Amino acid sequence: MTRMPQEQALERVARIDAVLASVESLLASCRLCGHACGVDRMAGKSGFCRTPTEPAGHAYVSSHTLHFGEEPMLTGRGGSGTVFFTHCNLRCVFCQNHQISQSGIGEAVAPDELAGMFIALQHEGAENINLVTPTHYIHPILVGLRRAYETGLALPVVYNTNGYDGIELLRLLEGIVDIYLPDVKYMEESPARQYSQAPDYPAVAKATILEMYRQVGPVAIVDGVARKGIIIRHLILPNGHAGSYDLILWLRDAGLQEVTLGLMSQYSPQHRAGTYPELDARIGAREYAEIVRYALDQGFEHVLAQGFDSADVYLPDFGRDQPFEKEGSRLQASGSQATPRYLKPEA
Ligand code: SF4
Repeated sequence: MTRMPQEQALERVARIDAVLASVESLLASCRLCGHACGVDRMAGKSGFCRTPTEPAGHAYVSSHTLHFGEEPMLTGRGGSGTVFFTHCNLRCVFCQNHQISQSGIGEAVAPDELAGMFIALQHEGAENINLVTPTHYIHPILVGLRRAYETGLALPVVYNTNGYDGIELLRLLEGIVDIYLPDVKYMEESPARQYSQAPDYPAVAKATILEMYRQVGPVAIVDGVARKGIIIRHLILPNGHAGSYDLILWLRDAGLQEVTLGLMSQYSPQHRAGTYPELDARIGAREYAEIVRYALDQGFEHVLAQGFDSADVYLPDFGRDQPFEKEGSRLQASGSQATPRYLKPEA
């Protein structure tokens, strides 16, 4: 595990101090994410995300654990220090984390307790602090990070988000987030509306990707572990509903071929997906291999491809102490970041 120098940790404290008032201003007429509900979260109102308002200033955490199933450059040797926050600003009908994103299984945690979790994960050997679905809890998270950096935290921060984030917020996070880990879920309004209740998701996600890339650029690896950069996750949906080819072309045309692109095969019809016949299936091995091949043919050098057993391996159960205890498979990387491994199209 490589630790950041103390001066850098203290610079981070100063940076958080510099942006907290602006974050509070965003919360007062909430536009933390693409919904821009406009509710006064500082006065205890709740918006589309249904983030609990009591106790004030708390985040709800479902689990914090070392996670060995993340991308190899995040997992490293010590594991990713993952903190799962409850609730979500999207309502994806196929959400595999629906126990926490929609049912809200978790406990209220004050910022000082969050800081304690971050420090505890560092002591356990975590390579980074991986904030899962953090946007709607960004205020207590920043206060907790400030406290943690002040008291010895020296790990990079991973912002693990669904990609539906507000640009104003992202700009404030410059210099605080080291690694952005956004999803890109859709490239068309229609599935974004139907399956996640966010028709402008494609436009918002494209803007977030550009801003994240501007801040941190491609992944930089030190001693086998990512220290900085952007890793885009794309869950391939059945029947082309995720717009996988369009995403690859958009990234290429935007000049972002240096991003690390995780093409995920793990879709299975979870939560309410079974009520949509077009989503009630796994994707095919050949279909997946063709998308991976297409990305490589378009010049992407850092493509992460999953084994085809991934749907079962990655399915978490937040009713367990260790939600990912069945895990055993990893995303495999192509390109210079790790040994190339991807599924070849069938003849
Ligand atoms: S975080 Fe997003 S969904 Fe939640 S209240 Fe703010 S703008 Fe609305």
